[in-house]
Amino acid sequence: PREPFLGFRTDPPVTDVILSVNPFFSHFPFQILTTGAPKKKAVFVLGSSGTGKSKLAIDLALRFAGEIINSDKMQVYDGLPIITNKVTDDECAGIPHHFLGGIHPDADYTASEFRRDATSAAEEIAARGRLPIIAGGSNSYIRELVAGDNGEFARRFDCCFIWVDVDWSVLDEFVADRVDRMVEQGLVEEARGLFDTAGDYSRGIRRSIGVPEMDRFFRLESVSGEAEAAAVLEEAIEEIKANTCRLTRVQREKIQRFASEDGWRLHRVDATAAVLRRKEAAAGRVWRETVLAPSVEVVRRLVGK
Ligand code: ATP
Repeated sequence: PREPFLGFRTDPPVTDVILSVNPFFSHFPFQILTTGAPKKKAVFVLGSSGTGKSKLAIDLALRFAGEIINSDKMQVYDGLPIITNKVTDDECAGIPHHFLGGIHPDADYTASEFRRDATSAAEEIAARGRLPIIAGGSNSYIRELVAGDNGEFARRFDCCFIWVDVDWSVLDEFVADRVDRMVEQGLVEEARGLFDTAGDYSRGIRRSIGVPEMDRFFRLESVSGEAEAAAVLEEAIEEIKANTCRLTRVQREKIQRFASEDGWRLHRVDATAAVLRRKEAAAGRVWRETVLAPSVEVVRRLVGK
C-alpha cells in the first residue's frame, strides 16, 4: 500500500484545477454584461463516496443559509438508509435536504428528470433568499444538471465547484471500516428486503452497492448449514468493500474529467487529514482548519460576503 499522504500542512489549502477551457463556459461574462442583474448563486460539493461531502455541505449550509440538493443517484430513492449512507436527521442539523428519498425504489429516476427537478428546487431555494448547495458524487446527474438542456442551469446560476478529495490508502481504509459499521447497523436485513428471487438488480435502488452482493448469501442461507452461509456472508461483505473502493476511484476519475474535459474550475480541498484523524480528540479542529475553512473561503468569493 502507498504511504498515506501527509503533506497537507505545507500544501495550499485549496487547489484550483482547470485544465481546459470549454467555450460553453466562456460566454458567462457576456451573460452578466447583457442581463445587468446579479446572477443567482449555486454551490456544488463533489467528491467520491466517503470523503465527507455530506458533512461539508451541511456545515456550509449552516454558515451561508443554504439548503441542500442531494445529487447521489441512489440516495434519491426511498429506502436503504444504511446501505446508501443517507445523512440522519441529527446530522442534517435542521438544514433542509431535497431529493433525499422521495422517489419510488423501483423507478428509474433519470438524469434529465433530476435536472428538471433540481433546477426548480434551486430556483425556489434562491427565491427564498437561501443558497442552493448541490451535494453528491453522481457524475451523470451533475453533468446533466450543469450542462444539459443547453446549459440552462449554468446560465441562470453562477456556480462554484468544491471537490473534496482524500488520498487512496486513507479512503480505502475508511470505506472498509464504514462497511463493517453498516453491517453492525443492519445492512444484511436492509438488503434482504430487496432480495430478488429472479436475481434482477438492474433497476432503481436495487443497483446500490450492498444489495446484489448479498444475493448468493440469501439463496444459500435457507438450504445450507450455518458455517457455509457464514463464509459466504464474509465473502459478500468483502465484495461490498472492494466494489465501494472501486466506485470511489471511478467517481474520482469522473470528477477530474469535469476539469479536464468540461473545463469546469474545481476547487480541490484535501480532506485526507480529516479522514485519517477522525477518531482523534483533535478531529473537529482538523476538519474545520483543513476542509471547512478553505471551502468557506471559496463560497465567500462566490457570494461576495
Ligand atoms: P453511472 O451513470 O455509470 O451510473 P454515475 O457517475 O452517474 O455513473 P455513481 O453515483 O458513480 O453514478 O453511481 C454508480 C453506481 O454506484 C450506482 O449505480 C450504484 O451501483 C453505486 N452507488 C452510487 N452511489 C451509491 C450509494 N450511495 N450507495 C450504494 N451504491 C451506490
